[in-house]
Amino acid sequence: MSERLRLMCVHAHPDDESSKGAATMAKYVDAGHEVLVVSCTGGERGDILNPRLKDDIHILRDLAQVRRDEMARAQEILGVQHTWLGFVDSGLPEGDPLPPLPEGCFALEPLEVTTEALVREIRRFRPHVVTTYDENGGYPHPDHIMCHDVSVAAFEAAGDPARFPDAGTAWQPLKLYYNQTFSRARIEAFHEALTALGEESPYAEWLENWDRTDRVVTTRVECSAWYDRRDAALLAHATQVDPDGTWFRVPREVQARVWPIEEYELAASFVEVPDDEDDLFAGLPADVEGADALATSGELPLVHDTRTERAA
Ligand SMILES: [Zn+2]
Repeated sequence: MSERLRLMCVHAHPDDESSKGAATMAKYVDAGHEVLVVSCTGGERGDILNPRLKDDIHILRDLAQVRRDEMARAQEILGVQHTWLGFVDSGLPEGDPLPPLPEGCFALEPLEVTTEALVREIRRFRPHVVTTYDENGGYPHPDHIMCHDVSVAAFEAAGDPARFPDAGTAWQPLKLYYNQTFSRARIEAFHEALTALGEESPYAEWLENWDRTDRVVTTRVECSAWYDRRDAALLAHATQVDPDGTWFRVPREVQARVWPIEEYELAASFVEVPDDEDDLFAGLPADVEGADALATSGELPLVHDTRTERAA
């Protein structure tokens, strides 16, 4: 039986956990570890992205409740624990010029307020490892950028007893990762796989117009045996996913063959890590008591820190 190490995955909206790192989470749950998904917002301002449900009056009447129910189902499928941080979805501003963000939304909350909420959750759950998004949010939704900002701020503050003294006993997560879901290499692998099958690839235009710089992937977790759980969890967010959309175009067995991994970028670590990591818990003491002792030892030096400022 594996030791029960603890992984916290911080996400902006319900459904993000099922599209970024879900197979990794299910794998760790099955290995006996504890995994907690933190949803920063309730996804209240999301659109209905499934054409079959677009005009469903029951959904339109209370999308927030529908999304809570969807999240509960996805949680059950993945076997993770889940908590709401309790902030309100900012929505994705559209138009030129962009409209202002709605009053009271997550992205407009003072960073001290959102950080204290996440620090409280870190000190309660006591994760050894935390995942979040990179400084650009993975994609430029204001809630995804705030998700990064609050995760980094809480990672820095949670281990310091002088910060947020009312939010619990100090606890220092030992590693911080960024989800890297859409690498060019992955999209190319899917494109080539569909082309080889003689099928039309929805990725051609995406690749032609590719304008994102490659991130440094440090960690590749083999998790293809959990792709069925990942897909089932994503489909549980029925209002947010078009089951006929590009997400599901590459057959699962083909994905398992050409891309059997989920990718991560190590941003900060208090423990030495191996090159070409294949495990988010790599480098930690193997026993949970040892890992706990390290997280509460105070004044640990960072041995890896590749966090960068967001370009203005
Ligand atoms: Zn999101």
